[in-house]
Amino acid sequence: MIIRARIVVTMDGPPIENGAVAVSGNRIVDVGRFDDVKTRNAETTLDLGEQVLLPGLINAHCHLDYTCLRGKIPPQKSFTDWIRAINAEKSALSPKDYAASIKKGFEEAKRFGTTAIANLTAFPELIPQVQPPIRTCWFAELIDIRAPERANELVDSAIESLGSLECADMSALSTRRHVAALQTQHWGLAPHALFTASKDLFRRCEEIAQREHILLTTHLAESREEMEMFRDGSGALYEFMKSIGRPMNDSGNETPLGLFLDLIGSGGSPNRPRTIEVNRPYPSWIVAHVNELTESDFDLLERSNSKFHIVHCPRSHNYFGHSPFALDRLRSLGFNVCLGTDSLASNGTLSLFDEMRAFQKEFPSVSAEEIFQMVTVKAARALRYENALGQIRPGFGADLIAVPCTGLTDIFEELIAWDAPVDWIFARDDQEQVL
Ligand SMILES: [Zn+2]
Repeated sequence: MIIRARIVVTMDGPPIENGAVAVSGNRIVDVGRFDDVKTRNAETTLDLGEQVLLPGLINAHCHLDYTCLRGKIPPQKSFTDWIRAINAEKSALSPKDYAASIKKGFEEAKRFGTTAIANLTAFPELIPQVQPPIRTCWFAELIDIRAPERANELVDSAIESLGSLECADMSALSTRRHVAALQTQHWGLAPHALFTASKDLFRRCEEIAQREHILLTTHLAESREEMEMFRDGSGALYEFMKSIGRPMNDSGNETPLGLFLDLIGSGGSPNRPRTIEVNRPYPSWIVAHVNELTESDFDLLERSNSKFHIVHCPRSHNYFGHSPFALDRLRSLGFNVCLGTDSLASNGTLSLFDEMRAFQKEFPSVSAEEIFQMVTVKAARALRYENALGQIRPGFGADLIAVPCTGLTDIFEELIAWDAPVDWIFARDDQEQVL
């Protein structure tokens, strides 16, 4: 099949006027000017007319578990109050509610043109009940505040849930076949945050990721209260965590970033031993937020040999009123910064177009094209899809979307201004039906 559109935005060179993409199965086989593609491929043509055809968008951080909490929690005075509020909401939800919430979330994400998503779930056991309509990198979100001595057990049982779709024989979990399934399915582990996941939990996840080449994600340095807790050993989050029985002996010394770099063996404070040597061809960690950084943190980042990926969530950031995100400094230090929606417990929609517009307001000097890279090429790199998604190139997955265009202004500006559901989507589900 050949898909023709007024403009094809490939993210692999300049946009192509009167362009076309040839698709076979779920793969792109050719792209270029319509006449050329037509000459090279004797296929039937689907003409999208006055539209721009582009790669499907990639959401690098979200929690579809909480789709049902949209509008339920007004902005709170503090991050800790928000944790209390979401815990209260969660206590009323059943596994059935969560499964329905995840399904609704997938539908909404797809409706707004997202065709691949990094989704953290606190309920990996629900994964077999959900058939995602788009490509999904599932992360099991892990919290062990109440039982840090069982960190390894927790990680192992999450891996069992993650592998259950592919492994009929559960006893084969430790075999290479399982590992291959993890790789191809792009699954990963998500120790929730430094204040909710123990060092042992982080280390176990790190060990497994090094061995099995899975992805890791976490929330880091999100709020001022997290900074206060770890650096100063005080504040609302410190008091709350202490009150629920968390051991607080890691607080009062280091910044969250310093602690994290120690944990991943990438050089935090000089007087701490390196726990794990980082020797990977590419980083495993996709780190959400990174809002609160001190000058000494920037020194650490400069010296660190781990250039993890960073996900900024502009509307969730606004909702919480976090400190300004240090985009320029992080970019100039070589970090790959992409965008995510976070959950609907701190955001209004799962639209990455809305997210791009919020980002543009926050950083008006960043070009529309670069913003668009943050939900395509850069997000693909974070999820290790850099050779498969985020661009329209031969050999890449045919995850495609199209929206109407006038061609009157810069095409990327026009794309970012799109504020309705996406008219035409060719994602995982559609590919199975159409081809
Ligand atoms: Zn999050």
